[in-house]
Amino acid sequence: MEKIKLGISTCLLGENVRYDGGHKLDRLLTETLGRYVDYVPVCPEVECGLSIPRETMHLEGNLDSPRLVTTHTKQDMTNRMVRWAKRCVKELGREDLCGFIFKSNSPSSGMGRIRVYNEKGISVKKGVGIFARIFMGHFPLLPVEDEGRLHDPELRENFIERIFALKRWREALAKKESRGVVVDFHTKHKLFILSHSPRHYQAMGRLVAQAKDLPLKELYSRYQTLLMETLKLKTTVKKNSNVLMHIMGYFKEQLSSDEKKELLGVIDFYRKGHIPLIVPITLINHYVRKYDQPYLKQQGYLNPHPLELQLRNHV
Ligand code: SF4
Repeated sequence: MEKIKLGISTCLLGENVRYDGGHKLDRLLTETLGRYVDYVPVCPEVECGLSIPRETMHLEGNLDSPRLVTTHTKQDMTNRMVRWAKRCVKELGREDLCGFIFKSNSPSSGMGRIRVYNEKGISVKKGVGIFARIFMGHFPLLPVEDEGRLHDPELRENFIERIFALKRWREALAKKESRGVVVDFHTKHKLFILSHSPRHYQAMGRLVAQAKDLPLKELYSRYQTLLMETLKLKTTVKKNSNVLMHIMGYFKEQLSSDEKKELLGVIDFYRKGHIPLIVPITLINHYVRKYDQPYLKQQGYLNPHPLELQLRNHV
């Protein structure tokens, strides 16, 4: 797989673009994830023409459409930022991004929980940065996260699963335009989809069953929308446990009674929170190889991202 293209707030890459001339280098993003990702840096404040260093800014006014205002001199930068951001998202549309990582707590780049001040100077942490809001409105289905949330193992896992799945989907489409591509992708991702949303699993199955009756473009667009909606929904221990039991069904005839007992025991340990998901997955992958199970061998759920990212390792 080629590297995945992700937008990112420039200061997270260690560039000195912050208001104080500093940066917010995040090594998890540059070193660990960076091996699989090509970043497209975006610093809204510098790219809309503000200097380094510069006066700090904050959001004030209405929660849904706050103003971006300098803290001491009270200059309103909203129009300048909005004009630039609208041009920027159009340009980013040509970059084939699979997602964006925003800098948290920024009135320009923060994707949520940004302080918005009222006229009395009292703030609530419920705002969205001006650029982040315009970006997410322009690309509503694209995976987005901020660097703070990505330090939570579950949120990180979900984001990485989403960007890898979107990349695999785009690569599949790039090879050849045909209904068979959608059917093949769906077949390989059934268990993956089931682990995120049993409801979407049903809906996508129905869509793929009608594939030959739909115009190709409509099939692509409806499938991609459902795929991205699905991946937004997080996997849970309960959903994963169901998928693991489902997988076990494929081995019914082949596993010895000892192997069945061992696998059931490991799934139960996972369900009770004693061991991470990687443990039953590793055991299942061992049986997939041992019994050469063709359907399971191709399932993205069993190998959704490189092992080096150490996902599915938390309890
Ligand atoms: S938070 Fe956003 S606007 Fe601020 S320095 Fe980083 S990239 Fe630039």
